[in-house]
Amino acid sequence: MLNSHAHIDFVGVEKLESTNSCIVPSIGKNNWHAVTKFAYYALGIHPWYLEEHTTDDLKMLDQYINNNNPIAIGECGLDFNRNINKKKQKIYFQEHLSLAQKYQLPVVIHSVNATEEVIMTLKQFPSISGEIHGFSGSASQAELLTNMGFLLGFGMQITNINSTKLRSIVANTPLEFILIETDDHHNPNDMLKVAYVVAELKQIPVDKIIEQCDNNALSLFNIKTKT
Ligand SMILES: [Zn+2]
Repeated sequence: MLNSHAHIDFVGVEKLESTNSCIVPSIGKNNWHAVTKFAYYALGIHPWYLEEHTTDDLKMLDQYINNNNPIAIGECGLDFNRNINKKKQKIYFQEHLSLAQKYQLPVVIHSVNATEEVIMTLKQFPSISGEIHGFSGSASQAELLTNMGFLLGFGMQITNINSTKLRSIVANTPLEFILIETDDHHNPNDMLKVAYVVAELKQIPVDKIIEQCDNNALSLFNIKTKT
């Protein structure tokens, strides 16, 4: 099975089982090099780490993308739950979207308490595809984003039976728009647990869920062969 978003380069995150594969997003200049060791990786600056970066790093990111083979730009985005300069967040997010446009790559977006702003920004870049990973927006935002062609990533949060809002969004989002992930959860192989919850919520056999969600990731990230 393919994990669409797992930080397996992080200390404390376990290894993937050999039958699994995953997409490894980077969080900033400190791990760009580390993620390039994996088969599938994305290059970008996570909003939590903006303070460690300057506009020179954006130029370096451009070069790094040009000299390597990322399958996506990210993770990038907006997080209005954190006390990080909003203006700087918006500028860096737009720069990442420009890079996605330039290199014709999909974007991996982190959006917390900022999905309205993310949607408004994405509308300025109509040619871009991508995903909102760890989706935490509303049901209407989920519908709006999928109508714009964006996929939604769901992880361990949906395994909590108290996540009623999120679980109903999973139930109502067409399977073609769902990606399964574990983000920074300690065991990336637990994506299977997420798949079982999606299966239960949608009343579809789990093997069909895995097949479709794998295909969603392969097609969004333009991956020809699964390793
Ligand atoms: Zn992440």
